[in-house]
Amino acid sequence: MPKTLRPRPTARAVKRTPARGGTKSSSERVAEIFRRFAKANPEPKGELEYANPFTLLVAVVLSAQATDAGVNKATEPLFKVADTPQKMLELGEEGLRERIKTIGLYRNKAKNVIGLSRALIAEHRGEVPRQREALEALPGVGRKTANVVLNTAFGEPTLAVDTHVFRVAHRLGLASGKTPLEVETGLLKVIPERYLQHAHHWLILHGRYVCQARRPRCDACVVCDLCTARDKWFDCGPPKVAAQRKALS
Ligand code: SF4
Repeated sequence: MPKTLRPRPTARAVKRTPARGGTKSSSERVAEIFRRFAKANPEPKGELEYANPFTLLVAVVLSAQATDAGVNKATEPLFKVADTPQKMLELGEEGLRERIKTIGLYRNKAKNVIGLSRALIAEHRGEVPRQREALEALPGVGRKTANVVLNTAFGEPTLAVDTHVFRVAHRLGLASGKTPLEVETGLLKVIPERYLQHAHHWLILHGRYVCQARRPRCDACVVCDLCTARDKWFDCGPPKVAAQRKALS
């Protein structure tokens, strides 16, 4: 008799359901989720290429509504000639536009990068500030970009909520807000402090490669049995650290 294959869950099939770790309290469940992320990927890294805080800031500004791979393709040659605010200004808006025209919204982004380079020289001696308010005052820099720079360049325990983090936070029952700020606030409340430094990258990578929007790969998910969104019939089995590592590699 042919073996019946279970279909993989689709986004429609993924419903909220109590996590199987029924004996765990909510805080134990959250801690266990991040303990497993840490075990599967102890030193998670973002995928944008950069050489210093300035190039990181520029890469993040360019990455809005664009893929990291697409941004990296344009910034690799760009950062060879313009890796400081001064050099970026010398390149000029037109020169920058020419180098980033493969990235969506490049005209507006070129304007912002030149504007923020000018502001960094005028107000911060050419350095990227470490204060949220100062970062958010720069052209093209919002809360999400500031959070990424504070976390990645300066090691602050901030959490940027993009589409992946937003989705994963809801599916895993970590936060229930309707806006990125509400989700960020909710996540900061429940994630144990020792995991906050890397939480941003774990959640993004999990959303990008495992808990994908249309076709979550619950079969390769290291926190499947702790998830509140998986389909009821899905058999999670034991934690799949190896499968998760493979999915992230
Ligand atoms: S991939 Fe994991 S976190 Fe995402 S819905 Fe499936 S079991 Fe939940």
